[in-house]
Amino acid sequence: MHLPHPTGLVWLRRDLRTYDNMALQAALRECAQVHCVFVLDDTILDALPRADRRVEFILASLVELDQTLRELGQREGCGFIVLRGRPQVLIPQLAQQLGVTGVYAARDYEPYALERDAAVSQSLQALRKSLTLVKDHVILEQRELLTQTGKPYGVFTPYWRAWLARLAATPPHDASADDMPRGQQLAERPSAHRQAPPTLEALGFLPTNLSALAIQPGERGAQALLNSFSNRLDQYDQTRNFPAIKGPSYLGVHLRFGTVSIRQLVALGYAHHLAGSTGATTWLSELAWRDFYFQILANFPHAATGAFKPEYDQIAWEEGESADRLFAAWCRGATGYPIVDAAMTQINATGYMHNRLRMIAGSFLVKHLGIDWRWGERYFAQQLNDFDLSANNGGWQWVSSSGCDAQPYFRIFNPMLQSEKFDPEGKFIRRYLPQLAGLDKKTIHAPWTASQAALAAAGVELGGNYPQPVVEHTRARARTLLRYGVVKKVV
Ligand code: FAD
Repeated sequence: MHLPHPTGLVWLRRDLRTYDNMALQAALRECAQVHCVFVLDDTILDALPRADRRVEFILASLVELDQTLRELGQREGCGFIVLRGRPQVLIPQLAQQLGVTGVYAARDYEPYALERDAAVSQSLQALRKSLTLVKDHVILEQRELLTQTGKPYGVFTPYWRAWLARLAATPPHDASADDMPRGQQLAERPSAHRQAPPTLEALGFLPTNLSALAIQPGERGAQALLNSFSNRLDQYDQTRNFPAIKGPSYLGVHLRFGTVSIRQLVALGYAHHLAGSTGATTWLSELAWRDFYFQILANFPHAATGAFKPEYDQIAWEEGESADRLFAAWCRGATGYPIVDAAMTQINATGYMHNRLRMIAGSFLVKHLGIDWRWGERYFAQQLNDFDLSANNGGWQWVSSSGCDAQPYFRIFNPMLQSEKFDPEGKFIRRYLPQLAGLDKKTIHAPWTASQAALAAAGVELGGNYPQPVVEHTRARARTLLRYGVVKKVV
């Protein structure tokens, strides 16, 4: 059989797996021999703090992938090529060295990635080589799902209906054993490229608490989480809002780095949905939110830096010393509102924050402290293991009411009521704020309402081992309504 390319190169980025990997499958279909490469991109690495769980997660996933490719190849020189530097230079250079004529990668929709890929494609073309980009990260991308008038969706509910109808018409395909790479097609690396992936230290990074948190990177880590979640999937709609309960899948970080296939997750969710599981339907809708925000970023690129609804850019946010002080208190979990502080302690200590808490803590920053949502977006981007530009941006725009499907701006979460509803026993708060553990389940949501005697008995000193509230709820709410009034005038 004639194949377009004698030798191809698969450039893995945020698809660190062999199972159901679309770029790898495309290369295996079109090339007699295939190399695989990952570039540790200096532009990205240089912007990170020296201890970053995501770097540790990626390196461990690369080590696993290298092992998998060696096992599949069953020859001395098979394995993964790992380079460090600028992909814009390294990929064309490597393609030239390896005598590759076709390079394959999964399409990435973020602004930096688009620029990078355009530059790589241009350099490859100049060398008479091709860059083929394929859909891998999402079920439906860019303009694949449009409204009846041919426009991209800006509101989730109709998008979700159309997304589900498309699944019914084209049921999600999950890879089969036939799609796995066949050993003889994996090329042997030249000796200059046979080193194992670098260690964290060699890369100039410090160890984090990733393994202490029992976050297992790589495809194996993802499959272990998925196995455990598949037993809870049918209850997801009942449990997902309660941060003290093991309700969600915790697969976000694996979706971020592609150590799990979105098609595998959707195929599982869809099978349970067809069997009548309401838990699975709700979970599928969350996976659809993920696709939705990816297409928002692709079709409305202005949302990456400004409000999705531009009139919200008129809002004047707090600035200056007082805003800096309030923001710092929020970041370190010292606002005096236990549910917010427990949430911020969770993100700082683990890189994860429960979805309900992302909404509560986000809303508090914007609608109680009057801080620009982009400050919060930036902080989450630094902290979250599962940070994804599109979902993070979408989540923050939802919180600030400036996004698609905005909650009306005058609907302002009451942190005490949210806390009583979603952490009724205060179990989550006690886990992350042990200094409040002695309070009863009523006052733990608002310690300033406890009597002096109750505070003393619980060992809580407001302004001592736990802060006084940095703002008062009713006054903060009134200020926000005034602040957002400008939107009403513009509309
Ligand atoms: P599960 O509940 O098991 O859901 C499965 C997957 O569906 C998630 O891993 C995620 O990929 C997707 N998903 C679930 N909810 C959403 C949602 N609302 N929007 C988009 N995708 C969703 N999600 C991110 O993946 N990265 C982010 O950077 C991010 N930042 C957020 C910021 C804010 C302010 C808010 C309100 C939400 C944010 N989310 C983000 C969405 C959501 O909170 C996380 O996806 C979820 O908490 C991850 O946990 P899980 O993997 O256990 O999710």
